[in-house]
Amino acid sequence: MKTADSGSTATVVIAIDGPAGAGKTTTAREVARRLGFKYLDTGAMYRTIALHVLRQGCDLSNPDEIARIAEDADISIEFIDGAQKTCLKGEDVSELIRSPEVSKAVSPVSEVPAVRRRMVALQRENGKSGQNVVEGRDIGTVVFPDAVLKVFMTADIEERARRRLSDFSRSGIDSDIQKIAADIEERDGRDSNREDSPLSRADDAVLIDTTSLSFEDQVEKIIQNFREKTS
Ligand code: C5P
Repeated sequence: MKTADSGSTATVVIAIDGPAGAGKTTTAREVARRLGFKYLDTGAMYRTIALHVLRQGCDLSNPDEIARIAEDADISIEFIDGAQKTCLKGEDVSELIRSPEVSKAVSPVSEVPAVRRRMVALQRENGKSGQNVVEGRDIGTVVFPDAVLKVFMTADIEERARRRLSDFSRSGIDSDIQKIAADIEERDGRDSNREDSPLSRADDAVLIDTTSLSFEDQVEKIIQNFREKTS
């Protein structure tokens, strides 16, 4: 996208927020691919900090200890053919961070204000130039409040649990739907009720309920909203 007066490339952010399992990651990635934008998965960043904290044997009920240990986490992000590779001390942990153990640890870790400050700075650094689709919980409210388009994706808990179950079985992880639903509800509860930048819909975010939408419809709806905002 070129600005009319300078001819320089303007920074563009599409912010996609919502609860766990609403379909944000696959949809955001595809929207970015079709528009030729960069895609940033901020959940992966919090998950990487959670993996580091778990590996250090940290007490997850102690926010000061989490803050101290998280400070040393050497996180880096690379983009290969539009896909995000998240590394911890140079190790590619993109797969490891999807484990149920990390999913359980990530909310207590991401509640800690020192962790959020560091992650938000890194996210703003990544999205400060070019054209970006940024996905998370607080992107439209806190990280990029001036995003050109804000989307809040949601879906029924049963549908979200079903989707997570198929993600897990594709990765060969055993689980059952009741447990997944309970874990998702617990995580959403913590994410929505924390003091620092909770999961919430920005006043100006477009609400997309994906419960009975096909993947194609989800992608198209976002692209259509973006075109309307920018035409
Ligand atoms: O999106 P994903 O499920 O991978 O996010 C994992 C967790 O990371 C969330 O449950 C939340 O605790 C945290 N998170 C956050 N803020 C973001 C993105 C994710 O607190 N912007």
